[in-house]
This record gives sequence, structure tokens and C-alpha cells, in this order.
Amino acid sequence: MASVARSLTSCIFCKIIKGDIPSFKLVETDFSYSFLDIGPLSKGHALIIPKDHAAKLHELPDEYLADAMPIAKKIAAAQGLENYNILQNNGRIAHQEVDHVHFHVIPKPSASDEEGLVVGWPAKKPAMDELKALHQELVDRLNKV
Ligand code: AMP
Ligand code: ZN
Repeated sequence: MASVARSLTSCIFCKIIKGDIPSFKLVETDFSYSFLDIGPLSKGHALIIPKDHAAKLHELPDEYLADAMPIAKKIAAAQGLENYNILQNNGRIAHQEVDHVHFHVIPKPSASDEEGLVVGWPAKKPAMDELKALHQELVDRLNKV
């Protein structure tokens, strides 16, 4: 059974869904709304938002999550994108500015840092026994969620 969609009057993305704030709409379904980002990192940068107010991904019911990625695929296909990032930020220090779950579709038309997402990737080299212990801990926790 589908959950009842939540809406927050102070939320800018809830206002966009309701049509109280204008947007350049792309795709709309029963569960999602997508539109052009007004501060694009590259031409065609789009956002997909669930029609349910949840600040972070883990707070969002699965039916909304399941609806979002096919829209990302459609937006990428419509633009003929070869290189792009799907990004979803949770929390201020993880670069989330708007506290309503959203998925970015960010075209990466060239290798230049001037357009598209610029990613830092500070990979670590953990010892195998550290990874093994972490793996066991996570598997135990996953079995309880
Ligand atoms: P994030 O940092 O992941 O929270 O991204 C928020 C995104 O929302 C930014 O890329 C903004 O440019 C975008 N944004 C904020 N307000 C609007 C708006 N009214 N219409 C379209 N995009 C918006
Ligand atoms: Zn909202």
C-alpha cells in the first residue's frame, strides 16, 4: 500500500511540485517531478524530486525511489548523454543545500573542470583484516534493518 505523500509549506521543492514556484518541467509521474536546475553545472543539468517531502534518502518510501531512476535514464537518453553523473546529496557537509530529496542528472560534456561535476576521490588503502571486520559488522547490521 502506497504511503500518503508529505508536503512542507516552507520547502522550496514542495512549492515547485505544487506549482507555487515556477520551474522548467521535464517529466512528471504520480511519484516524481523533474525540472531544469536553475544553477546548472553544465547545459542540461536536471533535478528529479519525489512528490513526498523527505529530507534524506533513507527517509523516503521505496515507491518514490523506484520511480526516480527511470526518469534519470529518460533525461539522459533524451539528451543523448555519453558522459554524466547522477548525484544525490544528503546532509550539509555532503553538499545538500535543499532539504528535500533530489537526484541531479549532470551532463559531463568535456573533461574540463569548467563544466559538469568536479569530483574529489580521496581513496584510502585499508588493510584486508580491517575490510573483513567492517564487512562482517555491516552484514550483521543489514540483517537487522
Ligand atoms: P543540493 O546541493 O544537492 O541540495 O542541490 C540543490 C540544487 O537545487 C542546486 O543545484 C540548485 O541550483 C537547485 N535549485 C535551487 N532552487 C531551485 C529552483 N527554484 N529551481 C531549480 N533548481 C533549483
Ligand atoms: Zn519538500
